[in-house]
Amino acid sequence: MMIKKDTTQTLRQKDHVKEMRKKLRELGITESSMYSKKENLGKMKNIAWAFFSFFIRQRDFKKYGGKCYTCQKVAESVQDLQAGHYQSRGKAATLYNEINNHAQCRACNHPAIGNGKPRTYSYNLNQEYGEGTSDELYRLSEQYQKNDFWWHLETANKYYEKLKAKEN
Ligand SMILES: [Zn+2]
Repeated sequence: MMIKKDTTQTLRQKDHVKEMRKKLRELGITESSMYSKKENLGKMKNIAWAFFSFFIRQRDFKKYGGKCYTCQKVAESVQDLQAGHYQSRGKAATLYNEINNHAQCRACNHPAIGNGKPRTYSYNLNQEYGEGTSDELYRLSEQYQKNDFWWHLETANKYYEKLKAKEN
């Protein structure tokens, strides 16, 4: 028996992708493809990441004067920084956690160079947010988080609104 694919939801997702891309352009944010772009889920993950990453980089550029969180190298612009995770981005529960993400230079965040500099990252987290912060992030990262299209859409909208509020 042929299973008929329900296209209603897929089409609705497509519309959301279009709408959120328009919002990215509105704020002048460039989307990079961290995740596969084949399915709507991957597309929405890329969009949500673009909003979230920009939010983190802008926050830290102001807060630390462009300094990389793990080597203190000073970046000239928000575009020269990357949003680097402490617990890896493969862990959904801490993917969009604002304490689990800080602006890093490309070298520190590069898997083959600094690999995120986890020891320095952990030390700085505990200094800044209190002893035990890095352990707490580990604990959080192990928790279950539904990793679906709608969750990424919700995140994309949340950070679009936050960024827009800052603009005004
Ligand atoms: Zn660095």
